[in-house]
Amino acid sequence: MNEIRHNLDVARALTDAEERYSRQHSLSLAYMERASRFMPGGNTRSVLFFKPFPFVVRTSSGCRVLDLDGNNYVDFLCEYSAGLFGHSEPTIKAAIQHAIETGWVHGGHIENEARLAAALCLRFPSVERIRFTNSGTEANLMALVTARAFTKRSRIMAFRGGYHGGVLHYKSGDADQNAPFPLVLCTYNDIAQTVAAINREARDLAAVIVEPLQGSAGCIPASREFLSAIRSVCERHGIILIFDEVMCSRLAPGGLQGALGITPDLTTLGKYLEGGASFGAFGGREDIMSLYDPNRPDALAHAGTFNNNALSMAAAVAAATVLSSDRLVQLNAMGDALRAKLNGIARARALPIQFIGSGSMMNIHFREGEIRTIADTQTEDPNVKPLFHLEMLERGQYLTRNGMLNLSLPMSACELEGVASAFEDFLELNGSLIVACCSPFT
Ligand SMILES: *Cc1c(COP(=O)(O)O)cnc(C)c1O
Repeated sequence: MNEIRHNLDVARALTDAEERYSRQHSLSLAYMERASRFMPGGNTRSVLFFKPFPFVVRTSSGCRVLDLDGNNYVDFLCEYSAGLFGHSEPTIKAAIQHAIETGWVHGGHIENEARLAAALCLRFPSVERIRFTNSGTEANLMALVTARAFTKRSRIMAFRGGYHGGVLHYKSGDADQNAPFPLVLCTYNDIAQTVAAINREARDLAAVIVEPLQGSAGCIPASREFLSAIRSVCERHGIILIFDEVMCSRLAPGGLQGALGITPDLTTLGKYLEGGASFGAFGGREDIMSLYDPNRPDALAHAGTFNNNALSMAAAVAAATVLSSDRLVQLNAMGDALRAKLNGIARARALPIQFIGSGSMMNIHFREGEIRTIADTQTEDPNVKPLFHLEMLERGQYLTRNGMLNLSLPMSACELEGVASAFEDFLELNGSLIVACCSPFT
């Protein structure tokens, strides 16, 4: 696969890559056509769709995925960061099997709830009390309505590029499908604008919700100064600061709040903490969370048939025992080293490409210069990430359409060298097309 391609531009290279992909995935295509009879576009989770059509997974194990057509991939998509343990971690598997053997539809309190609550409260500095949900989306909805009940105010503040779930996404403003909270939207990492808006809206502002590193937007870190400015202005006005650490808590033993030494009032969690089943959680200050103590005559209700479901609780307790601080620190150090290596490969060719992120989460961007907001990432040629995605798939590297890579515990130096050499090969073939489409000087 190392003949130099003579495509005129990235759009033409993408068309060629789509044709090659379609030829290699005929069984997946036939499946998608069957599925489309009963599901719109054959899809039930929008982010997994890509053109020309997504492949269908047959099995997965360790850090590898096999598709219906027999193609093998090293899995850097990692279930959008939730797959930190890989696909078949033995301790988690045994815990789920044990839960099945002891019944899994209890309809009552189970001991694993308090085990999991203790593990999470001890891990995250802001979390004094915690409650469970079925997804990160639900955790964020609960945190927001909790803040509104606690402060008796109505508005919320979020940031452009923020993703807090299917009904709370702010990638391009306030989406039509979003939950209808009265909203103040600010620019991520813009301290002056944000502080001014909080001061202006303070009397009616219940909560500020922010990802300490915007994952879906392309792994854009918040500056410490930005988060600490929000922390102090929220404190001054009694506004509830919510850190959405559904993704980024995997970047340090105490989450990013621990690493930065900035403590929010509420924290939302999800994804990898479950070890692979469905899960979410919201927790924080004891005085806020105690609103849900059913012993209180004025207690708020928090319902959810599957909040304490036996499979999720068992898997999450096991996951917490597998994930020691040392293993987490080591995984993130591997990620930092990989990001440096990939950036070195791009730099050696003087290409306008960079990987940003932190530790075990990273995202490619086809531009030079500092990236502080999602707007900074939206200037690139719309064909270049799809081309990168399909060409990496062709080289057995599974990553997201947006160019996000996440590491998982089963990975070793071998997988990291593999993805680096696939990237090098991609640049060898397409470097000149990328210069032509992505350089600010052409
Ligand atoms: C994935 C994600 C969510 C939503 O979690 P779901 O379990 O998919 O509902 C919320 N916030 C962030 C930061 C996420 O990455």
